[in-house]
Amino acid sequence: MGIVPASRSSIRCFLYALSFLIRKMCSSSPPRKRRRASTPAPGIAVPQPAPAPRYDFAALATADPALLTPYLRRGARRVTVDFSIEGATLAVTRAILQHHFRLSLALPCGNLVPTVPARVQYLSWAASLLGDARRARSASLLDVGTGPSAIYALLAARTLPDCWDVTATDVDPVALEHAELNVARNELSARIHVLARSAADEVVPPPSYFSSRQAPPLALVVCNPPFYDTGETPAAAPAPGSRAQLETAGGEVAFLLRVARDGRAHGARVWFTGLVGVKSHLGALKRGLRSDIVRASEVAWVRLSAGGRTVRWAVAWRFAEEDGEGKDD
Ligand code: SAH
Repeated sequence: MGIVPASRSSIRCFLYALSFLIRKMCSSSPPRKRRRASTPAPGIAVPQPAPAPRYDFAALATADPALLTPYLRRGARRVTVDFSIEGATLAVTRAILQHHFRLSLALPCGNLVPTVPARVQYLSWAASLLGDARRARSASLLDVGTGPSAIYALLAARTLPDCWDVTATDVDPVALEHAELNVARNELSARIHVLARSAADEVVPPPSYFSSRQAPPLALVVCNPPFYDTGETPAAAPAPGSRAQLETAGGEVAFLLRVARDGRAHGARVWFTGLVGVKSHLGALKRGLRSDIVRASEVAWVRLSAGGRTVRWAVAWRFAEEDGEGKDD
């Protein structure tokens, strides 16, 4: 018997059946499980951050020539700042705070100089999670690890409605002393409470702290955690600052998971947020937040960028309502 050449249509049928079989085998095999183990489920949708504000250096220098002029470079098309000159970052930070937020800043020598645009971007994104109606109501904001500048606390007091109360914590005595000083020199002592914590304390003070001060209930937490694990701060750290400000046991992921565990006591009304500096830390943080120990019910993250470059990630989470807890949105 001779071999009958296959017709075009029977080849097409055969290929279709084969691709169907392959698709079926792939969809019924375990890769789903493998994917789950390495990639956490997608986060919930939250508002995207507005671009980091850009400030006009020429206008800032005109407002206070003594502060910025030594660091300015006048190009053909625009005025820039030469950040390689020592003191330039601090001068720019001071100028922006003064002219856009009526804030005056004092920092101890050799400490972290907070850059303003990225902090304004993160803080306004965090506040946007509450929605306009909730933002207008009286509530407490907690800045965990405020640092010597108390920068988030100061910006929050200037940009959130007056009915907001701010608590700013730290463990470092130098940071606490300067944070107090910065709050006082801006006459914000009635709005911002600097709270000394010890390393063994909860990183989020319990609800009794807010009620004993007759402060409104906690609604929003912001945190720029220490980046490095203990003993891992590189000799040439990206920013000067005391070791205590840059290091924490377990690094930024462990610190933010502490914020989450200690924050559970405040229930479902609070948006917790934190900054993450290293992209590869995001996976471990998201898994930790959804773990049985923390049990965050909603987890979201966004990319914060400046000039098209990713600078940080911001993570936000909330807890589910416990039985009997009132709804608040
Ligand atoms: N918020 C400031 C400083 C961030 S650096 C800014 O963005 O510029 C992190 C800060 O967390 C340091 O000041 C460090 O002293 C503080 N910190 C470390 N452990 C802490 C803890 N357990 N509770 C509160 N603050 C802590």
